[in-house]
Amino acid sequence: MLELSKEDLEKLIKLQEIDSKIIKLEVKLKELPQEIKQLEEVSTKRKRKIELIDERIEELSQKRKELEKIINESYKQIEESKKRKAQAKNLEDYKAAIKLKSEAEKTIIKATKEIEEILKELNQLFREKERLEESVREFEKKINRKREEIEKTKQQLEKKLRELGGLREQLAASISPEVLEFYEEKKYEFGGNVFVPVVNRTCSGCSMQVPSAQYTKLLRGEGLVYCPNCGRVLFIK
Ligand SMILES: [Zn+2]
Repeated sequence: MLELSKEDLEKLIKLQEIDSKIIKLEVKLKELPQEIKQLEEVSTKRKRKIELIDERIEELSQKRKELEKIINESYKQIEESKKRKAQAKNLEDYKAAIKLKSEAEKTIIKATKEIEEILKELNQLFREKERLEESVREFEKKINRKREEIEKTKQQLEKKLRELGGLREQLAASISPEVLEFYEEKKYEFGGNVFVPVVNRTCSGCSMQVPSAQYTKLLRGEGLVYCPNCGRVLFIK
């Protein structure tokens, strides 16, 4: 079994600290674009709402044009009815002319009411659209600020990572290959922390009480002491 000198152990603990910092930084770096993505989704939803409003506005405007056309035609019919009334040769003709006029008038009243309703809705839609556009503009500003912020954070994190990478390389170079291999293998086995401090006589890797024999060995500083429960290497801070 490999024996680690006190110095080796100290170096490996330091290496483990650096590795854990590197992992945390890498996780943070991965999470950064996620924030922007969420904000962009909200913005896209609001833009889609504006599109829907535009579609409705277009639809209503089209309807309004049609109604105006109907009103114009109805006025023509009223003119026509006047002519027919004047030229009526019998009661039948006369009645037909009157009927034409009254129907045209009814149509005008109905269409005018419908246009009023349309204008009311259009008015609301325009206001709603304005409100949404304003909020989208504000939101875009917010996203841009956030983007800048994230870019800055990203650069800082990357710089830190490079620094830690350099430190790690330096430290690793001062450790013998077999000791380093021991650490790398254990790190893989435990998915992270290999060396764990004993706090209140408890292994901080698995929370089990450290038996007296191991504890005494630790206090005496006699070689490597493994936690009998989880197998991690124990040390006292
Ligand atoms: Zn343990």
